[in-house]
Amino acid sequence: MTTTHKTIDPSKLRPATRLVHGGVHRSAHGETAEALYLTSGYVYDSAEQAEATFAGTVEHYQYSRFANPTITMLEERLALIEGAEACRTTATGMAAVHATMLSHLKTGDRVVASRALFGSCHWIVSTLLPRYGIISEFVDGGDLDQWRRALSRPAQLVLLETPSNPMLEMVDMKAVAELAHAAGAIVVVDNVFATPLLQQPMKFGADVVVYSCTKHIDGQGRVLGGAVLASRKWINDTLQPFIRNTGPALSPFNAWLLLKGLETLPLRIDAGCRSAFAIADFLAARPEVARVWYPLRADHPQVELARAQMSGGGTVVTFEVPGGKNAAFTVMNRFQLIAVSNNLGDSKSLATHPATTTHMRIGAEERAKLGITDGVIRLSVGLEDAEDLKHDLAQALKGLGTVAARAAE
Ligand SMILES: *Cc1c(COP(=O)(O)O)cnc(C)c1O
Repeated sequence: MTTTHKTIDPSKLRPATRLVHGGVHRSAHGETAEALYLTSGYVYDSAEQAEATFAGTVEHYQYSRFANPTITMLEERLALIEGAEACRTTATGMAAVHATMLSHLKTGDRVVASRALFGSCHWIVSTLLPRYGIISEFVDGGDLDQWRRALSRPAQLVLLETPSNPMLEMVDMKAVAELAHAAGAIVVVDNVFATPLLQQPMKFGADVVVYSCTKHIDGQGRVLGGAVLASRKWINDTLQPFIRNTGPALSPFNAWLLLKGLETLPLRIDAGCRSAFAIADFLAARPEVARVWYPLRADHPQVELARAQMSGGGTVVTFEVPGGKNAAFTVMNRFQLIAVSNNLGDSKSLATHPATTTHMRIGAEERAKLGITDGVIRLSVGLEDAEDLKHDLAQALKGLGTVAARAAE
């Protein structure tokens, strides 16, 4: 059987087209959709071919812990959309962050990280790395003076998240990358909130970009996955030996779902951003809402930086109701359409109370430093009609104490 295999130069294609066609390797059967290779191992034509494969003189799949054709398609597509030389995927976003850090670091090294990190990333930096004699230090990501002080001494790795979870704080990637490189550190950006479509950290000096593919890349709440993007040299020399021998491999089935997720990513992100912006404006106008955070809204404290780094505000809106935990719980329990969850980046709208869930373990003092009060709700805007979401928010907020009434108390 022969296949009509046309080769298009992907650099000539626009992002939406790359997300549909990038990385496709058709089998001899000429299938339309990406083939799903659910196989753990591979066979060789001969003992000689097996020997040559292990010697590295012939390219052949060996074992799905190392590589798998469906996973290769996903990795090539992700690299194309990020504009990175190479990509490796992992079973979860946390496996991607963990493998990135442990493959690069050794005892005696120093890590500087922004304080506003996803909870498990915070745990790796604050608790896990010091167990292995790796020194870690947190700074307020928005404060360049703190970065300057922390990076006036040698360091090996900088980890940051922008916009951050859940307060949507920005880090000036270009300025931090300059400081980090001068200190001898690579810059790792957790780009989950922005997605590869709204922000490309490598353009601002990042060396490594990590994703939880569980979020917008799947985008439909089905599977876990992670990705690491970087130079071919760093991936091959540093990350690949670690992944190959420690085994955080992605399932080919999950890779296949993520490939299909990438095809619709621009449509979903576009719709999600439009709804999220409209909902941020809607919430800001409500008397029961004390404050709204959304990256591209004029009242965001770092709106200029957000505009310089991001082409869209993302799908997460954070807001605060006066009246603390009781008021926040009342609002969340009244939602009819919006679900209470700790996840985000789903086609279904999800609301989280960070202080009692995702950010419970970091403690009250660290929460106060991050501005996560008991009245803060994080809303991940899904693909429902924005008018239905506004209606749900309005009925949940109705009758709650207004900001003016609270101030008069
Ligand atoms: C979800 C998330 C992670 C972890 O990803 P998993 O796929 O859940 O392991 C890391 N960073 C950020 C910003 C996230 O939102």
